[in-house]
Amino acid sequence: MSSRLRVSDISRPSVQMAHISLDDLMPLPPPYDKLEDQPGWKVLTDAQRHDYEASLDDTLAVGVPKPKSTAEEKRLVEQFLSGLEKLMSKENNWTFLQQLTLSIEHCAKCQTCIEACPIYEASGRNDLYRPTFRSEVFRRIVHKYTKPGGKFFGRLMHGDIELNWTTVARLLELAYRCTLCRRCAQTCPIGVDNGLITHEIRKLFSMEMGIAAKEIHEKGSVLQLKVGSSTGMNAEVVKDNIQFIDEDMHDLTGIKVETPWDKEGADILLIHNAGEILAWPENPGAFAIVLEAAGISWTMSSDLTAYDGINYGLWYDDAQFARVAVKHAQAAKKLKVKKIVIGECGHAHKALTVIADRVLTGDLIIPRESSMVLLRDIVMSGRIKFDPTRNDFPVTLHDPCNMVRLMGIVEPQREVVRKLCPQFREMEPHGVENYCCGGGSGFAIMSPFNFQDWRLSVSGRIKLKQIVEAFADHPDPEIKKYLCAPCSNCKGQIRDLFRYYGVWEKSGITYGGLVELIVNAMVDIKEPFIKWEFH
Ligand code: SF4
Ligand code: SF4
Repeated sequence: MSSRLRVSDISRPSVQMAHISLDDLMPLPPPYDKLEDQPGWKVLTDAQRHDYEASLDDTLAVGVPKPKSTAEEKRLVEQFLSGLEKLMSKENNWTFLQQLTLSIEHCAKCQTCIEACPIYEASGRNDLYRPTFRSEVFRRIVHKYTKPGGKFFGRLMHGDIELNWTTVARLLELAYRCTLCRRCAQTCPIGVDNGLITHEIRKLFSMEMGIAAKEIHEKGSVLQLKVGSSTGMNAEVVKDNIQFIDEDMHDLTGIKVETPWDKEGADILLIHNAGEILAWPENPGAFAIVLEAAGISWTMSSDLTAYDGINYGLWYDDAQFARVAVKHAQAAKKLKVKKIVIGECGHAHKALTVIADRVLTGDLIIPRESSMVLLRDIVMSGRIKFDPTRNDFPVTLHDPCNMVRLMGIVEPQREVVRKLCPQFREMEPHGVENYCCGGGSGFAIMSPFNFQDWRLSVSGRIKLKQIVEAFADHPDPEIKKYLCAPCSNCKGQIRDLFRYYGVWEKSGITYGGLVELIVNAMVDIKEPFIKWEFH
């Protein structure tokens, strides 16, 4: 059924609209090529299918409860329509209406973009995951239900679609089968952005209907605005953790570091993704070592949200996004720093630079810079002495979509690894052509129902293939290899991918950030900084 899907099928009630089995999926290279060794996915239980709207495919990302009556279904459809009206109006959607309208109006239906989509390709080219399938559903709804005479002309000119509860419930889930990597948008010859359309669908559900993935809303932006960080750390806890990391760094390297907090007039306010502090403390620790060694004037801020660069609103809700972005800028202004530097987190890069430009105006304007640029400048400045032979092991580089494709930060991190890593090799394709880790748009922290199986079997599949192929000349797991992934979100997805497929055990590949490679090559560090372990 799924290989011959028509756009209008989305409105036709059925048990399940599309299905993929393991042998449909894009093959993986050895030693991951045997289907019997692949974990596959757990099947949704009868109880889950009974309680939640699960008629799209084999998984659930949001899991909206089934309405109790047809009256409730009707109310939800009306709410969707009311949100759609707002989404298509300048007053309510000044942030993205222009780009949305262009993407709705100008698709030539050439299907060039579908070849660029890692999810479509990894799924074995399942029609449901075509970038244009979701957009076409939405486009028809817009034309039929928001344009004058749309019920007649919209149907004739753009194709018919029926807006019932089945359509709405499936569209919600379908908006969470795309990582917003925007590889399709880059490929489109006329600049239609299917990723943006997905974003706007998510936004409609969140801002009008209060429906969003729990991990990025309740446990994400709501928690961040309430306690300061979506990790749940308040200011006191984060300071304690950083103090512990500083002490650990001293024990490990012999270099004394003391992370400055709330230092007024510092040149730089450094904002990490706070997930690093808990999951990969060596990353903020390495930043502190490098900044101190280079004599940089820097600080962290203990203000609400300002010690966590995460801003999950980016993926689903403009209001939540703006609340966090404004607090980031206010914290920097309060400390009178010259600029904000964003740590190794791709989505924090996108949030606080390109998208925050839409809301940070007037007194809130403050220069914001990528840590890739700062680290490159430090490494190239000659202020720190390096011995690249300390990094003489195979290294490849993952390009986080938001940092590289969206912002064009391609070279700074490469200049560093070329200088410090003698066995650096690119994965193919790379740079702005690179593939998403499969954890973009919040997926890396989303594992409800059996969704983790889907994101590791489908959305992360091409990334795994790329990584393994980049080290194909050293398949022996005894030869330790390093995947440099300068993004906290990507590292979360890569950690899960490596665990799922046993990559450390089978291939001897571990992963980490860029700054760890820099510290590992510092002459002043007596013991290797990179520990060859997997965590
Ligand atoms: S989005 Fe662009 S590439 Fe894709 S079908 Fe439309 S015009 Fe073609
Ligand atoms: S944004 Fe990325 S995942 Fe989403 S449809 Fe486009 S290529 Fe596919």
